[in-house]
Amino acid sequence: MRAVIALGSNLGDRQWSLMSAAEALNEVGEVVAFSSFLESRAVGGLPQPDYLNAVLILDTQLAPEELLRVCQAIEKIFGRTREVHWGPRTLDLDLITCDEQIIQSEVLTLPHPRASERHFVLAPWLEIDNQAYLPGKGEVAELLANLAR
Ligand code: ATP
Ligand code: CA
Ligand code: CA
Repeated sequence: MRAVIALGSNLGDRQWSLMSAAEALNEVGEVVAFSSFLESRAVGGLPQPDYLNAVLILDTQLAPEELLRVCQAIEKIFGRTREVHWGPRTLDLDLITCDEQIIQSEVLTLPHPRASERHFVLAPWLEIDNQAYLPGKGEVAELLANLAR
């Protein structure tokens, strides 16, 4: 399957964390595209440092739930610690889409329910896939244009 993964970090060496995560993901498949980095203001939670964000596309044989577990393991390896919900962290990996799959389980919602509102997800995604499509929501180019308005 083809997965779209959003990466974020707002603690420590942010770029190193994102690049290391991409390398680790490349071990469970093939990273076929990796966007440039962009900065975003933290949303929700306590006042905290700005995020560095990126999006990558991973081709993998793993199933979505397995990929989520891998992402959580990688977050752990790179020292994610967080006391508050939506608080600062060294690494956050969110599954945005896995092919066109619609999933609503206890641990995994696909597509990511807040992706369509997030410039820091849509913009880098569109950069690496100008045909990007968010199942149930529409063309990423259009969603992004609506956000900017
Ligand atoms: P947000 O989801 O709004 O970006 P967050 O990234 O801070 O917030 P986390 O604390 O990292 O949220 O994740 C909370 C839970 O979300 C995880 O334990 C995971 O089981 C669940 N989850 C559900 N859908 C997804 C998804 N598509 N990608 C990543 N985690 C997900
Ligand atoms: Ca997140
Ligand atoms: Ca997350």
